Amino acid sequence: MMKESADYLPTLTEFGFSKEEILKAEKHDSRTCYKFVGGEDMGLKRLEEYITEKRSVRHYNDTRNNLIGSEYSSKLSPWLANGSLSIREIYHKTREFEKAHGASESTKVYIDELFWRDFNRFWCMRYANKVFSPYGIYDREYYDWNTDQEIVQRWREGRTGMPLIDSLMRDMNATGFMPNRGRMIVACYFTMDLKQDWRYGAHYFEEKLIDHDVQSNYGGWSFSSGIGPGRVLVFNSLKQSRDFDKEGKYIKRWCPELKAAPLSYIHDIWNLPKALQKSTGIVLGEAYPTVIKCNKYTNPEVAKKEKRDKAEQRKLGFEKK
Ligand code: FAD
Repeated sequence: MMKESADYLPTLTEFGFSKEEILKAEKHDSRTCYKFVGGEDMGLKRLEEYITEKRSVRHYNDTRNNLIGSEYSSKLSPWLANGSLSIREIYHKTREFEKAHGASESTKVYIDELFWRDFNRFWCMRYANKVFSPYGIYDREYYDWNTDQEIVQRWREGRTGMPLIDSLMRDMNATGFMPNRGRMIVACYFTMDLKQDWRYGAHYFEEKLIDHDVQSNYGGWSFSSGIGPGRVLVFNSLKQSRDFDKEGKYIKRWCPELKAAPLSYIHDIWNLPKALQKSTGIVLGEAYPTVIKCNKYTNPEVAKKEKRDKAEQRKLGFEKK
C-alpha cells in the first residue's frame, strides 16, 4: 500500500517497476551525449556548468548543430520538460553572463532559441486541437500521407539503410535524447522522403524522448513536415549527413557495423561496390540494411521525376529565380 503524504515521494519499486527495470533505467549508455540525472538540483547544476563554469554558451552559435558531445548545446530540455527548471531561470542566467562578459552573437542566438519554446506554446494555445490534425492548421491535404507499418517500423528502429537517419534513431532509442539538428533531419526524412503520416513520427518521439514536451514536439514536427507555420524547408538528408557528420564519427558511433566503411561511402553506403562490401564485411542486406528507395539519391526514378517536374515548372514560368 502506498503512503499518502505531501512530503513523501514514493520509490520506483512502489510504482511497480521491477529491480531489472530500475537498474536498466539508471545505467547510462556509454555513447550518450550527456549523463542526465533528474531533479531540480541537477538541473541547476547543469545550468551553472553550461553558462558560468564552462562558458559553453559563448560558442553556441558555432556548435549548436553538432551531433556529438555535452557542450554543443545546453542539454537543459529534460529538466524543462518535467518542471525542474524554467525558461525564465535560463534566460536570467544568460543575461547575467552577458553583463559579466559582454553579449555576443552566440548569447543572442541562444536567447532566441529559448523563445522557440514559448512560441510553440502560444501557437498550440492559438490553434488548440487543430495542431494534431493530419494535414495541420492549413489543411494541406496535398501531402496525402501514407501509413506503411513496415516502413514506419524500420524508421523507428534505425533500419532504413540511410546511415545518418539510422544513427539518430538508434541514439534516441538508447538514450532518450536526440540533437536538435537530428530531430529536424529525421522528421523531414520521415514525411518528405518516406511520405509517412507525421503523427506516427511525433507519437514515437513522445514515447521515447526524455525531454518530451507536447508543444515543442508537435510544433517541431508540424514545422519539419511542411504543415506548420513559416516556410516549408525540405532537407536533402544526404547533404545534411555530409555537412553535419563530415567524418562519419556519429554514424560509426551508432552504426558500429559500418566502422570499416571508407569515408567516401559512409554517408551513401548503399552505393558501396560489391568488391568493397566483401573486403569490408559490410554486405548490404546482411551486415547492414538495404536502403529504402524513397528519394532522389537512392532511387533514379525519383530523380528523373524531379527533373521532369522542374522542366515542366520552367515551361510554365514557375521556376524560382
Ligand atoms: P539548446 O539548443 O541548448 O536550447 C536551449 C533550450 O531552448 C532548449 O532546452 C529548449 O527549451 C529551447 N529550444 C531550443 N530550440 C528549440 C526549438 N526548436 N523548439 C522548442 N524549444 C527550443 N524540444 C523539447 O524540449 N521537447 C520536445 O519534445 C521536442 N521535440 C522536438 C521535435 C522535433 C521534430 C524538433 C525539430 C524539435 C523538437 N524540440 C523539442 C526542440 C529542440 O530539438 C530541443 O528543445 C533541443 O534539442 C533540446 O536540447 P538543448 O536543451 O540542448 O537545446
